[in-house]
Amino acid sequence: MLFVPWRFIADWKCNACGLCCKAYSVVLNFHEWLKIVKNYGVETTVSGLDKLFIKRKSDGSCTFLHSFSGIHLCGLQQMKPKACKLWPFKIVNKPEYGYANDAVYNHGEHKLFVYADSTCSGLRYGSPTWKFSNLILKEFTEIALNLRVEQYKTTGKISLLQL
Ligand code: SF4
Ligand code: SF4
Repeated sequence: MLFVPWRFIADWKCNACGLCCKAYSVVLNFHEWLKIVKNYGVETTVSGLDKLFIKRKSDGSCTFLHSFSGIHLCGLQQMKPKACKLWPFKIVNKPEYGYANDAVYNHGEHKLFVYADSTCSGLRYGSPTWKFSNLILKEFTEIALNLRVEQYKTTGKISLLQL
């Protein structure tokens, strides 16, 4: 995978392709694990040597992934883990993947470095639009900083209820 600094990205919108929910294991913190276990049972999770994960189905996809006619939706909206909320962005305190000048993003007094995982099919490359840099990335950085929980600009717009 390749991490691209945010200044090379024009915009991002989740198209519900489901790739991220099939390709990666979701790491849970203890609080997230507890909530999922209370609501869905311990069998929806697995533990590794020192980490807790959401269980994957036999095809590798997340237990909570629902697919209808090529559209993939998360069945865990009310308690979606932070790792899922932040995908496909990596928001870190140091320029871990290089290109510091193109990755730096200031939120209040916080100096952050923002990169996107290029495997996400919802990325559009180019000069960042105002909406992307001022609304979408702002929300992602607020989630990373634990300043917000709700998602408005940082998630797909189709819900299970609409189907
Ligand atoms: S975040 Fe990206 S990879 Fe994941 S479902 Fe949306 S478009 Fe696909
Ligand atoms: S919890 Fe939801 S967003 Fe996260 S991997 Fe599973 S289906 Fe995808």
